[in-house]
Amino acid sequence: MKILVVNAGSSSLKYQLIDMQNEKVLAKGGCERIGIEGSFLKAKGNGQEKVYEKAMPNHKVAIELVLHALADEGIGVIKSMDEIGAVGHRVVASGEFFKKTTLVTPEVLKTLEETFELAPLHNPAAATGVKACMEVMPNTPMTLVFDTSFHATMPEKAFLYGIDYEDYKKYGVRKYGAHGTSHKFVSAEAAKYLGKKPEQLKIVTCHLGNGSSITAVDGGKCVDTSMGFTPLAGVLMGTRSGDIDASAVEFLARKKGLSHADMITYLNKQCGVAGISGVSSDFRDLEAGYERGDKRCALALEMFSYQTKRFVGAYAAAMGGLDCIVFTAGIGENTPIVREEVCSGLEFLGVQFDSEANKKKNDGSIREISAKGSKVKVLIIPTNEELVIARETAELL
Ligand code: AMP
Repeated sequence: MKILVVNAGSSSLKYQLIDMQNEKVLAKGGCERIGIEGSFLKAKGNGQEKVYEKAMPNHKVAIELVLHALADEGIGVIKSMDEIGAVGHRVVASGEFFKKTTLVTPEVLKTLEETFELAPLHNPAAATGVKACMEVMPNTPMTLVFDTSFHATMPEKAFLYGIDYEDYKKYGVRKYGAHGTSHKFVSAEAAKYLGKKPEQLKIVTCHLGNGSSITAVDGGKCVDTSMGFTPLAGVLMGTRSGDIDASAVEFLARKKGLSHADMITYLNKQCGVAGISGVSSDFRDLEAGYERGDKRCALALEMFSYQTKRFVGAYAAAMGGLDCIVFTAGIGENTPIVREEVCSGLEFLGVQFDSEANKKKNDGSIREISAKGSKVKVLIIPTNEELVIARETAELL
């Protein structure tokens, strides 16, 4: 069976068409800068690559372009949509509505809408992706694969907020985490790379992308993670504020005359490194700004790295040790300055960093950027959420 995996993020949409007989990727690609000027799709298939430069104001246009590329002359790998046995959709947040991978039905789609407020940037994008695919492939089964599943092993002391316990019970307000498929994949890959069993390792996985989360993986299981009730928590991100004192939120809303809903939109869309830099949410633009001496771009990069470092230290303490730090996702895989800043000053934990190895260009392979003999290994591992999603989809069907 061929499974199309769709991973719709806030400004990106990645896909892979995977042959489940051998888990071979037949075609893959990604739309970038959706909703931002200069959007494009880089598609690979048949050993060829093609770049489609096209305005993508929303995710529906992006998916239509992906489906066009899959059957396109030259790079196309299928003749008709009938060859796609199922579509697995990545969904960031499930709340208490879904516990595991779920087959899409009209009722499930309706229930999915209930989760929008938990992930206002991602879940509506995922739903748009599902609907667009259903329009083009009405007879193809689709699944929702949730990022929250890997975090289900967190103990109560880690996932609870300091609120009335009865309110947690009544409303389900607790930490759910996000990017679970990515943290699951890269922590397992790290163990494989290091030739150890997952049970033997204490790993901090840093999924740093447009949305970023850091997870403590002790013995192969998630014991804590930086995102919270929604993907707004943790480090500051592209346009999201990250952790902020609840009283400051109320104070700001009052000063700016914003409703609760508008305040959440503000925290999701106008903050983060975009708000700090005043330039962009994209780290490539921030790096360019830093290089031309823009102080606020430098500050945004500094804050992002510092906040990530704080989680690494906190999670080493939470696990009572650290064997490995993993960097993954758009920024984790492509932005050396962030990795260097995160790891600087962590010698006391046993991290010896190799600056030269860190500067090498991303070639899509696993790279070791700790110095030889470093007690704590530092790895760059390309994430493969798509493979995890395809496996879960095949299993369900
Ligand atoms: P993600 O959400 O994982 O797709 O990550 C997207 C973010 O990674 C972008 O907003 C950029 O800030 C950052 N990034 C930096 N360099 C690159 C690159 N060469 N390719 C893709 N993303 C990059």
